[in-house]
Parts: sequence; C-alpha cells; structure tokens
Amino acid sequence: MAMHVISRFAPSPTGRLHLGHAFSALLAHDLARALGGRFLLRIEDIDPGRCRPEHVTGIIEDLRWLGLDWDEEPVFQSQRLPLYAQALERLKARGFAYPCFCTRARIAAEITASIAAPHGPDGPLYPGICRTLGEEERARRIAAGEAHAWRLDSAKAVALAGPLPWHDAAAGPVAADPAAHGDVVLARKDAPTSYHLAVTVDDAAQGVTDVVRGQDLFAATHVHRLLQALLGLPVPRYHHHALLLDDKGERLAKRAGSPTLASMRAEGVDPAGLVERLRAQRPLAFP
Ligand code: GLU
Repeated sequence: MAMHVISRFAPSPTGRLHLGHAFSALLAHDLARALGGRFLLRIEDIDPGRCRPEHVTGIIEDLRWLGLDWDEEPVFQSQRLPLYAQALERLKARGFAYPCFCTRARIAAEITASIAAPHGPDGPLYPGICRTLGEEERARRIAAGEAHAWRLDSAKAVALAGPLPWHDAAAGPVAADPAAHGDVVLARKDAPTSYHLAVTVDDAAQGVTDVVRGQDLFAATHVHRLLQALLGLPVPRYHHHALLLDDKGERLAKRAGSPTLASMRAEGVDPAGLVERLRAQRPLAFP
C-alpha cells in the first residue's frame, strides 16, 4: 500500500558534495521511492557569503551521477525570503522574537565575563543581553538603522507552547527541549532568515512528511519542533541517520580533504558500485 510520503534532500551550496551527503540523499530518496512517495530537492542558499551558484550546478551534477532523480523542480530558499519574513512577523506579533544588536565580540565578552555561562549542544548560549531592552530603545535603535538580528525568546515561547513531542525513527519518542538551545537566531543580520526558521517553514510548505538527515542535526529538531508549535505547522516524522565514519572512526564530513563526489567521478569511480556500498551501510528504519 502506498503511504503518503514526501522526503527531501536539502543541501547548502557552499561546496561540492561528499560521501556523507551522498549517503543522506540516498536514504531520503530510497525512503520515498520504497513507499511510493515523492522525493524533493531543496537548495538551502540563504547564506549570501558562503553559497555559490556554481555549487548548485555541481550538486545537481553529483546527484545525477549517483543516479538519483527527484520530483518537481528544485526549490531555492533564496527565492522564498518573503515566506520566511511572514513567519517572522507572526512570531514578532506574538512577542516571541526580539531584535538583537550584539556583535560576536560583544557576545563573546559577555560569555567570558560570566561565571557560569549556560551551554547548549552547539556551545555557549546567547547570554540574553538584548532580551531585556525596553520597547523604546529597540524602536529607536532600529529606526537609527543599527544592524540587528532577530532572536527567539525561548523561555517565553517554551512556556506558552507546552509539551513538544516528536518522533525519531531510530530514537523513538522524543520530548523536545528547545530551551537548551537558548535564544536562537530567527533572522540574521546579513540574511532575513536563519537555518532554523527557513527549514521549518519549508518542510511544512512543501508538505514534507519525513525528514531524513544526519544525526548531527538531531538537536536542531528541538528548535524546529518549537517553531512548528508556535507557527501552527504539522510535525513530520524524523529519521536522523548515523554519520559515515572512516576506518579510524572519524566523521567523514569533518575530515580535512575528504574526497568530493566530483573528485571520485574524475578518478573513474563507478557510481553504481558506490551507491551499492552506501546502501549496504545502514538501512533506514521505516516509520
Ligand atoms: N542545509 C542543511 C545542511 O546542508 C541540511 C538541512 C536539513 O536537512 O534540515 O547541512
């Protein structure tokens, strides 16, 4: 029986794809194909400083080389900024977002000066410097054109959202703990959105039922689950897969000089054999 399944691969075009990306793309693709669903490609190009059009072309070439196909034209996040702006406005209107004027240096200094800076999965949390600014000061600094990001008032949001259950195919039932991430950025100083906001909005807008991605993004799902609750969006099933390791147990994606698919192709690697070896790695637990 065909299930209603939509999965996606959502690379950021900051470079060419590596084996780890290939593994993730393959798992997402195979999940949809096995269940008679659809597989989408979304290009996460909201970071103007790091994304390059030639990497988009390269990624598409790499995926085709692996023999993957996707349904529908690829979606580009850079063309969907109004959608994210709308979501941010909704969060602002309900008092869940505040402007943050801090520079990185200011945040670092504050963290160094504090006796016990709270830490999240990605390091020290934003120490909340701008959370307590008054409305008047905020309005004045924005009107004066001072550069600012927008942050989630996580304590307020969590208090209002209530319990946040989600399900991971490998980990089972999870209760989201978004407060552990602190006041994450919703819109950056240099981009009118952030990874967390854009990915949450898009997974819902594209009707994604199954998010397949690496274990390294497991913790980010706590934040996405909170944003889903605040924005009234459906909650997909999650499949955070193990990361490919090299023979020394080091993460492939982190290893300096780990080969790109493009370089493997140039060396004459047979893509069918490669895909077969990747598929043999770890089958995905189906929902
Ligand atoms: N764009 C993210 C990355 O390349 C992946 C986003 C996701 O799968 O949620 O790491």
